[in-house]
Amino acid sequence: MKWPDAISIKQIALAFITGLLVLMSLIGGFAAYQTREVTRSLEQHNQNAAASELTSAVQRLLRQTDDQAANLADWDETRQQLVLPEYYSYWRDQRVYESGMLPSHFVRVALYTPSGSLLAPSPAKISLPARLPADVPLHRLSSWLADEAGATVLYHAFPVYIDERHQTLLGYGMIRLDFMPALLQQEALHFADKASIKLTLKPGENLPATKLLSRLTFKAQPDPDRLRFQSILSRTLLALFVLLMAMSLLGFVVYNRLLVRPLRRLSQDIDAMQHGRFSPHSSRSQAMRISELENVRRSLYDYQLQLRELHGSLEHQNREFHSQARQDALTGCHNRRAYEEDWEKFRIELKNAPQGVAFLLFDCDRFKTINDTYGHAKGDRVLSIIADALVMALRANDRLYRLGGDEFATFLSRTTPAQAKQIAQRCQSLLDASVFSDLGINEPVGISIGIAFCAPDQLEHINDLPKQADIAMYTAKQPGRTRIALYGEDTERASQTLVASRETSALFQALASPGMIEMHYQSIHALPGRKVDYYEALARIRYRNDLIMPDAFLPVVSSRRLEAGFDLAVLNQVDADLSSQQLPPGIGVSINLSAQSISHPEVVSQLLELSRHNARHPLMLEITETSLITQMSEVRTYLDLLRTVNYRIAMDDFGTGYSPLRYLVDLPVDVVKFDISLVNKLGQDNRASQVVADFARMMSDAGYSLVAEGVETDTILRKVESLGIAHVQGYLLSRPMPLAKVAASFDDQNADVNCTA
Ligand code: C2E
Ligand code: CA
Ligand code: CA
Repeated sequence: MKWPDAISIKQIALAFITGLLVLMSLIGGFAAYQTREVTRSLEQHNQNAAASELTSAVQRLLRQTDDQAANLADWDETRQQLVLPEYYSYWRDQRVYESGMLPSHFVRVALYTPSGSLLAPSPAKISLPARLPADVPLHRLSSWLADEAGATVLYHAFPVYIDERHQTLLGYGMIRLDFMPALLQQEALHFADKASIKLTLKPGENLPATKLLSRLTFKAQPDPDRLRFQSILSRTLLALFVLLMAMSLLGFVVYNRLLVRPLRRLSQDIDAMQHGRFSPHSSRSQAMRISELENVRRSLYDYQLQLRELHGSLEHQNREFHSQARQDALTGCHNRRAYEEDWEKFRIELKNAPQGVAFLLFDCDRFKTINDTYGHAKGDRVLSIIADALVMALRANDRLYRLGGDEFATFLSRTTPAQAKQIAQRCQSLLDASVFSDLGINEPVGISIGIAFCAPDQLEHINDLPKQADIAMYTAKQPGRTRIALYGEDTERASQTLVASRETSALFQALASPGMIEMHYQSIHALPGRKVDYYEALARIRYRNDLIMPDAFLPVVSSRRLEAGFDLAVLNQVDADLSSQQLPPGIGVSINLSAQSISHPEVVSQLLELSRHNARHPLMLEITETSLITQMSEVRTYLDLLRTVNYRIAMDDFGTGYSPLRYLVDLPVDVVKFDISLVNKLGQDNRASQVVADFARMMSDAGYSLVAEGVETDTILRKVESLGIAHVQGYLLSRPMPLAKVAASFDDQNADVNCTA
């Protein structure tokens, strides 16, 4: 998975280096700035030095000129020329220089009359003004500068007196100096750049020497120290920069090698681990190994191994759980849940691969009897053997499912009806070959097989297969059948010939439309005295003006597993009969229930509803002893519940099952109805009669209220009476009658009572 916000280590490193470079640039910039400041102050210092140096040079030059002028003014020869200029030209051009009064270079001298005019014209090459300028204060020394043909010239005029006290003016002297060469000749100029010294004058302007300095421009000499300083600094900075760059680069490479690459490799290894391609000894030898990361890698690898192991064992457990959840614990074949899942999946797959499908339903014949006769443990063994035989008979990929009790199923893919029948026959033969004598079971254990087939072009009816197989199974179970029936073929043939077909349709119609089930009531008399205490409600089906009796329709009810539906219909009818109040109050009613219904939620709630009649008509529930083989504890719970709403519980047909005492001990029973077969034994004069009699006495003593069923003769009735049995029921006293007839009998009794009164 990629984390969108994550930054790679490499990016961090790059950012760090960039930051470093920025920092370095800042430091470099600061250093450069500082350098410039220092240079500038150095420059300023130079400039100042140059200025002061130039000032003193100028002042020295002016002072020199002053001194020379003063010397000339005091010199006798100068005076002499003004008084008698006999050799003035010689004096002016040679004598002055030879005498040492003036240096020869750049300097010229001339004399002027007191009126200011030139004493004698000067030669053309020495251009001195013909007259002294009018604005020059001539009473004292004065000097000025003027521009002459691009050259700056310094004039210095001075008065010449005859005496020391300066009382009589003889005239004037003037020194002319080429200013720039004279200035530049000064030796003391170190700071100022001589080439840059300039003095610019306007043409014709006379600049007084006192203002000279303000007009002088110059530049300082470049400072060699400063240049050296600058070059050292910049070289240092460059070196520093290069060093830092090199270090960053080196750091990046090292960081990359030591951290980024090993980490990336670790991450790749983890990826490889996830896909199971990693081995700790794979081609990593040439790569640099970092011990910490190697440890992490090793730990991860170990951890992964552990995880894989854990995962494997979890998967194994999961498979185990799954198969356990889908397996029938008793027979080892698939259970009902597996059947539902697989059947669903198979039907979905069929949509893409049309094929002939057969559904086979297997049911053990008379399993209930085996269970009752030989006990549960052997019953379970029988089921296991059946399952083994069936699995063996099926094709390799076919699955056998136990749907519950003794019922098994399978669905065959890519098959034909003939093939399905063949497989069914193989199942029969293998089971016939199975040996049950080890279990002490000597009679043959058989199975009936119902087959339903769906052709590849009729797969839209695939959902009907289980129901059709069930109907086929019912056909297969009919007496005289070959125990294998194919829906359609065999069931139709059967329905034409079957005796049960009338009862079947009667039953289905009766369950669909209320009113077809009619309850007849047979009186049960208290002994002694034979007073009618209550009635047993017995169901009949009214069908096309015929009355169908229980022995005809009850097998259909049980083979189609319609017990709950049938009992609900009966309870509804009894409810209607009681609500009509045709029975006098105090007369009880006993209702027959199949054991399967007792734990049925709808039946239970219907019974709770019906219990409201209890105040007027004490109600009793009759449960056949032989049908109570399974779900003992569940049945007990419901019976306890029903007793809390005042139902009495009777055990019906006592003496026909195999272990009646066990049920008596385990179930909350109030009344025991001795079956007709037991009662009839009382009429005989033998040991059996004695046993039954003793047994009845014992049961009475134990607190059970006994009912003797099927009493047809006076002999038996007297015997029953003598045994202290509490109630009696039988054709001798009355046959089951419709409710109206029962009600009428009470009216007759009342009439009789009234008559005798
Ligand atoms: P059962 O509970 O043992 O009912 C008594 C049966 O014996 C009744 O048969 C009754 O007519 C018959 N009988 C009564 N006295 C004598 C007699 O003296 N001699 C002889 N030979 N028979 C006598 P029926 O009405 O045909 O009922 C047969 C069985 O059908 C009942 O046996 C009961 O197990 C079942 N049954 C009847 N009605 C219902 C019902 O509403 N619900 C359920 N679940 N089962 C019912
Ligand atoms: Ca009964
Ligand atoms: Ca009975």
